[in-house]
Amino acid sequence: MGIQDENRHLEEADKKYIWHPFTQMKDWFGERPVIISEGRDCFIKDIYGRWYLDGVSSMWVNIHGHRKKEIDDAIKEQIDNISHSTMLGLSNVPAIKLAEKLVNLVQKPGFILRSLVLRSVLRREAATENGSPEATPPQSSPCQGEDRRGETSKLPNFQTSKLAKVFYSDNGSTAVEVALKMAFQYWIHKGISGKNTFLSLKNAYHGDTLGAVSVGGVETFHKVFSPLLFKTYDAPSPYCYRCELELCYPDCKFACLERMEDILRENSSGIAAVIIEPLVQAAGGMIVSPAGYLKGVRDLCTKYNVLMIADEVATGFGRTGKMFACEHEDVVPDIVCLSKGLTGGYLPLAATVATDEIYNAFLGEFRELKTFFHGHSYTGNPLACAAALACLDIFEKEETLKKLQPKIEILEKWLNDISGLPHVGDVRNKGLMAGVELVKDKDTKKPYNWEEKIGWKVAYHARDNGVFIRPLGNVVVIMPPLSISVENLNQMLVVIKDAIIAVM
Ligand code: PMP
Repeated sequence: MGIQDENRHLEEADKKYIWHPFTQMKDWFGERPVIISEGRDCFIKDIYGRWYLDGVSSMWVNIHGHRKKEIDDAIKEQIDNISHSTMLGLSNVPAIKLAEKLVNLVQKPGFILRSLVLRSVLRREAATENGSPEATPPQSSPCQGEDRRGETSKLPNFQTSKLAKVFYSDNGSTAVEVALKMAFQYWIHKGISGKNTFLSLKNAYHGDTLGAVSVGGVETFHKVFSPLLFKTYDAPSPYCYRCELELCYPDCKFACLERMEDILRENSSGIAAVIIEPLVQAAGGMIVSPAGYLKGVRDLCTKYNVLMIADEVATGFGRTGKMFACEHEDVVPDIVCLSKGLTGGYLPLAATVATDEIYNAFLGEFRELKTFFHGHSYTGNPLACAAALACLDIFEKEETLKKLQPKIEILEKWLNDISGLPHVGDVRNKGLMAGVELVKDKDTKKPYNWEEKIGWKVAYHARDNGVFIRPLGNVVVIMPPLSISVENLNQMLVVIKDAIIAVM
C-alpha cells in the first residue's frame, strides 16, 4: 500500500470505527479528518505532512511542547524498569517521588498556608476556653449569618491544616469525583451528618462523569443528563460580561458572592463543599472572575463551615501565569484537583491533594470502615508519574513561569487590539488562557446562534492557515503550550485575528 492509499485507509477506518468525543459524528462524516502522526515543540503534523501550531495545547494539557527530550527520556527510562503496577496494596517509586514533590509545591509560599477553620473545632475550642463542656457538632444551619472569623485570632491553638496528602487517579473528572466523595465522607467521619450535597457555580465544568456533571453548570453539555444527577446548589457565575444579576463590576460590590452567601446562610448544614474552578471557568467559556472573587469564596467557605474544593485541572501548572491559580489570591483550598498539565500533556494522570485535617479524619481501626473506598486500575501509574516528575523539573530548570510573563503581555496587547473589531464582544484572559467572545451585535451583546457555528468557522479558517484551535461555542479559545516562542505566539495571533476578520 502506498502512502496515499495508507492515508485514505486511515481516514476511512477512523470514520468506520471511532466515535469522537464532543463531536457530532454526522458532521465529522462529511469532512476529511485531520489525523495527527507526529508532534514537535508547539507543532503537530498530520499524515500528509502539514504542520499546525497547537493553539490549544492538545486540549489544554501540553506545557513544554511535544517530544520534549527530558520527558521522552524519563518515560523510556521508566519503561526499562516497569510500566505499571497497582497502588492498591503496593506503592511505586515515581508515585512516591511525585507525591513528595507535589506536596512541596502546594506548600510553597505562593500557595500560602492557611487555616482551615472548622466550625466544630472553633466551638470545641471556644467551649474549652470557657470551661464549658464540648459543644456537639451543629446538625442544621450552624452559622445563620454570624461571622466568627474574628474569633479565630482569639483562639490560641486553633487548628491549622495544610494540603498534605496526594490521592492519585487518572484524569480530571476522576480527580473531581475523588474530591467530592472525600469531602462528603470527611463530614461523616467528623460526626456531622446531613452534608449531602455541594454548592457549585453556573457555567462550571468539572468533567464528564456523573458526579462531575452534577456539579457542572454548562446547559449545553449537562442538561440532557439532569434526571441522572444529584441535586446541588447553584451560585451565579462571576461572568461580568453577561452578569445574570444585570449588574456591573465593580459597582456590583460582588453581588454574586452575596448570592452565594445567601445560599450558604440558609443551607450550609446540607453542603459538604463549594467546588470552584479558580479564576477561570474554562470550558464554560474562559470566564475570568474579577480580582478578589476567589478570596471571597474562600472566606465564605470558612465562615459557613464548608470545605473548599479548587478544581485546578485546567488552571494548574502555570496556565494562569502562576503555578496554581489559587496563588493569585493567596487562597489555599481544602482539596485541590490536578490533572491535564501535570504530565506536561504526555500521559493521563490526576492528583487530588487534601489537607491533613481531611486525611486524618479517615484514620481509624480497620473494623470502623473509615477507609476511603475508591481507586482506579491505573491509579499512580509509574510511567505517568515519571513524566510528571520530568515535567515539574523542567519548570524549575527552564524557569518556565518567569519566561511566561513577556508572552502574557504580548497576548494581552493583542487582545486589547482585537477588542475593537466589530464582532468581538469581550476579550478575557488570565495568563496564557484566553477567550474571545464573538457577538452578532456588539451594542446589545446579542450572541450568535449556536447553530451558526461561528467559533468553528474561525477555527477552520485558522486551521487552513496552520493554526489548530478549538472553540467553545462563540468563544475562540487561545491556550498554547507555555513553551511557545515569542515568534510562534505572534504568528499564531496574526492567523487567529485574520480568521476572525475573514469570518465576520
Ligand atoms: N475540570 C476542569 C476544570 C476541566 O477543564 C476539565 C476538562 N476540560 C475537567 C475537570 C475534566 O478533565 P478530563 O477531561 O481529564 O476528565
